Amino acid sequence: MSEYKLLIDGQLVEGKGSILEVINPADESLVATVATASPEQLASAINGAKLAFSSWSQTPIAERQNCLRRLVTLLKDNADDLAELLVKEQGKPLDGANMEMTFAEVFTGYFSEQGVAHKVLIDDEVQKVELVRKPLGVVAGITPWNFPFVQAVYKLAPAVLTGNTIIIKPSPMTPLTTLRLGELANQVFPAGVVNVLADNNDLGPVLCAHDDIAKVTFTGSTPTGRKIMAAGADTLKRLTLELGGNDAGIVLDDADPKEVAPGIFATAFMNSGQVCAALKRLYVHDSIYDAVCDEIAGLAKAAVVGDGSDPRTQFGPVQNRAQYEKVCAYIADAKAHGNVIAGGTIPEGPGFILPLTVVRDIEDGTAVVDEEPFGPILPIIRYTDLEDAIKCANGSEFGLGGSVWSSNIERAQAVAARLECGSSWINQHAAFAPNIPFPTCKQSGVGVEWGSEGIEEFTRVQVINTAKQ
Ligand code: NAD
Repeated sequence: MSEYKLLIDGQLVEGKGSILEVINPADESLVATVATASPEQLASAINGAKLAFSSWSQTPIAERQNCLRRLVTLLKDNADDLAELLVKEQGKPLDGANMEMTFAEVFTGYFSEQGVAHKVLIDDEVQKVELVRKPLGVVAGITPWNFPFVQAVYKLAPAVLTGNTIIIKPSPMTPLTTLRLGELANQVFPAGVVNVLADNNDLGPVLCAHDDIAKVTFTGSTPTGRKIMAAGADTLKRLTLELGGNDAGIVLDDADPKEVAPGIFATAFMNSGQVCAALKRLYVHDSIYDAVCDEIAGLAKAAVVGDGSDPRTQFGPVQNRAQYEKVCAYIADAKAHGNVIAGGTIPEGPGFILPLTVVRDIEDGTAVVDEEPFGPILPIIRYTDLEDAIKCANGSEFGLGGSVWSSNIERAQAVAARLECGSSWINQHAAFAPNIPFPTCKQSGVGVEWGSEGIEEFTRVQVINTAKQ
């Protein structure tokens, strides 16, 4: 018997599928086993969510908001235990895990205070035309392993606020905190409104093709996003896809290297680089190239990387073996095509701990620059002509975020406006808040999360048009 239960139609139940082993990435020890959902349990969850939709969608929004407020209280009360568990399953240091819990509370709190727009478009002597927003039905929320807890919350809160019911399916690498979220949600929401299932990478495709799933909200890789889009085609599913990124930062020639380096370093290596919108390639003007490289390398060398449960650790391991091997290959590519000025030496295992690696004198056309490493490695590329740097920054198939670093804000804003990405930051990167939409672009996805625009993605528009005599 596992101590982690699935939440299906208001019941916490033992899974009847295969057994999943959850591994601590710091030392490869076993954290827990989880019994995954069988196909019959998936069917029960979908059925329960469908039945619950008929009453939940009619529940006044004030009551739905109240449920979310009660969830915020439970998140606060359980934050310490959840953060400790997150360190074990994901690998991040306790500070990072606490931050993820704070984000979960703040985002749920934000959604608990939002409404769903009802507009009068025309009201004249001929007609009254109103626009109302309706929930969609049963939503599938599918999440990755880098921020497993808060990603589940980002999907749950706007879905249920707007009157949908949801089935959350976490990554098999990190199901534990999401299953705990299910236990908390079960104390707050009526049966069937929130369901949480663990799987072994087998239930996602079934959910995404199922007739009774109205929408899929997914965060993960671009190849999986494409499969989800194809799977949902027959039933014309609504989709929000937050996918991969290869965010560029451009440092202009007027930037002060000492001033910009800490912000660049923090956003390149946060969560050990395992962030969709981390700064993943840095273009620096020739006149300050050496100084910026030295500053960032100095910060990387001074950072403490290790087991997230050690209070001295600032950066944890890469989350799983497959990703670790991928990042090791990018480190080898960096050594072959550039000069590694911090990190680069892979320690003996066990565990997936990798040093923060900075590589200079490297160019576009190499794997570490062109692809998404999703790990603790930053290539720094030299440019002389700003137009070339903008062209390279926009040369990626991805378009999640980008940033410009400069002491001249107007100049930086002009460059930022030319970046082909969803979020363009100036003198910062990956600055997130629940009331700021997080849009996608190019192969980084479809749609928007957060803010009123993100909430609207969980609704459809109905026009009510009344003729006047
Ligand atoms: P992944 O795509 O392999 O898996 C994500 C989730 O999809 C998991 O729950 C997995 O079980 C499920 N899944 C796998 N195949 C499926 C299918 N055919 N149909 C439905 N579901 C399926 O991604 P990952 O390895 O967990 O995460 C890393 C990737 O996610 C990186 O590329 C990263 O950039 C991206 N990511 C993006 C964001 C963002 O907001 N844009 C955030 C975090 C991670």
